[in-house]
Amino acid sequence: MTQHKDKAAGTVTQQETPAYLWHAGGLVEWDKATTHITNIAWPSISMVFEGIRGYWSPRRQEVYLFHLEAHLKRLWQSMKLMRMTSSYSKEELARAIMEVVKANGYKGDVYISPYAYFREGVPGYIGVKDMPSEVLITCRPAPSNLGTDLVAHCCISSWTRIADNVMPPRAKAIANYQNSRLVSTEATLNGYDFGIILNGQGKVSEAAYACIFIVRDGVAITPPHSAGILESITRATGIELLRDMGVPVEERDVDRTELYIADEAFLCGTSVELRPVPSVDRYVLGDGAVGPVTRQLQERFHQAVRGEDPRYARWLTPVYEKARVG
Ligand code: PMP
Repeated sequence: MTQHKDKAAGTVTQQETPAYLWHAGGLVEWDKATTHITNIAWPSISMVFEGIRGYWSPRRQEVYLFHLEAHLKRLWQSMKLMRMTSSYSKEELARAIMEVVKANGYKGDVYISPYAYFREGVPGYIGVKDMPSEVLITCRPAPSNLGTDLVAHCCISSWTRIADNVMPPRAKAIANYQNSRLVSTEATLNGYDFGIILNGQGKVSEAAYACIFIVRDGVAITPPHSAGILESITRATGIELLRDMGVPVEERDVDRTELYIADEAFLCGTSVELRPVPSVDRYVLGDGAVGPVTRQLQERFHQAVRGEDPRYARWLTPVYEKARVG
């Protein structure tokens, strides 16, 4: 337990913190995982990370890590772009991720974040080559919003998406999230749930922390990897599920006004999962209700992540190793 001062209420609240995290090769008690105050400055500028969901299956009493391999592959790609080498193999980190969920005894939906940073603590702005990283893994309860009526009313942000030759968006780097923060702060202050960012070419890129699909005349359309997006794992999952549903998918540039006239739209990402977009800049999409393609996709996704569809068993890694799907 950690005590937090709730400024608005002026009271001290208790917030559940995990008993353990994983750092530098092993489990560490939450309260003992400390670092020097100066480390809040430059070291995190070159840090890369992942966000991974684990879904609880009440029927099988199991937590399924969703697309663990794909997340580790992307972590390695992000490290490479930072010219960071890994001190662990992918198998070692996969085991570490399972260990931290187990050590905390989580029997519910979880969100796991592995972070990699330069072990030698080099000042972030100095160029380095092939220096080793250290890894921190945190894990927290994160109930899924699938099956709820949560939606995302969106606006087009006045900010522009970072570009590949500015700060490569395909690296999942902490520093890139300055762009996302500006977008989401503006959107929230203006009364929207999410901001959608256009790239330097004026085409739709993605939302602050998620990718986007629209549906027009029965075809699902999503901006390509070259539009300044993070190479999203949920987006790739969505494409596969949509094609399995018989919905054609196009990966192509999307204009701003195509969002306004789309029949349906939804955001996708590990944290947002699949979230319907009823409006963009107050233009109502379709009749404003969750569209049939989005609805069916959400249902299929929900079945898949909880291990209820053996066709997608290959996406799941059981933490407690009780029940493989299929
Ligand atoms: N774009 C950004 C900027 C994100 O932070 C995320 C969430 N990781 C996504 C897209 C969606 O990616 P994924 O489906 O891999 O979570």
